[in-house]
Amino acid sequence: MKDLQSLNRLIEAFEELPSIGKKSATRLAISIAKDKFKALKLINAIEDVVANIKECEICGNFSEHEICDICSDEHRDKTLAVVENSKDIITIEESGSYKGYYFVLTHIDDEIIEKLKNIIREKKIEELIFAFPPSVESEARSLYIEDKLKDLNIEFTQIAQGVPTGVHFENVDVNSLAKAIKQRFKL
Ligand SMILES: [Zn+2]
Repeated sequence: MKDLQSLNRLIEAFEELPSIGKKSATRLAISIAKDKFKALKLINAIEDVVANIKECEICGNFSEHEICDICSDEHRDKTLAVVENSKDIITIEESGSYKGYYFVLTHIDDEIIEKLKNIIREKKIEELIFAFPPSVESEARSLYIEDKLKDLNIEFTQIAQGVPTGVHFENVDVNSLAKAIKQRFKL
């Protein structure tokens, strides 16, 4: 319907978000069209995130500053958990089972390996924990990184199999994740 072009555009925009299908997108768009106050609140919050949230220069975590709160904290353990995305940091922090630093490894290239080496040196890291959801690709990636960092004199560990294969951390209950971190093993 041409008359509802703007509503359709909003539905399409919602559909591009993760885990939102056509039905949910339509429901959200209609609720926004109906409630202008709610809509403005959402616009404001989105603008705020766009303007203020960036990636920490050291670890790649979401932050409102150049350096995130975790990297700025000098009192954390000398361990470094390498995760797939910032969302995993939030999940692990919520589990309360870990007090070290993090590094977000979204891809592999020379630049990101250099950044990883920098944080290891700067934070005097003694143990690097591969905190990827278990899969064949994760294993290959861990081996590759371990090889790239072998001159750095650190210990490599991997979180235990409390986390089921192929399942993302956000879908794992906090206790299993905490246990998996506690029972990490040496590589
Ligand atoms: Zn950081």
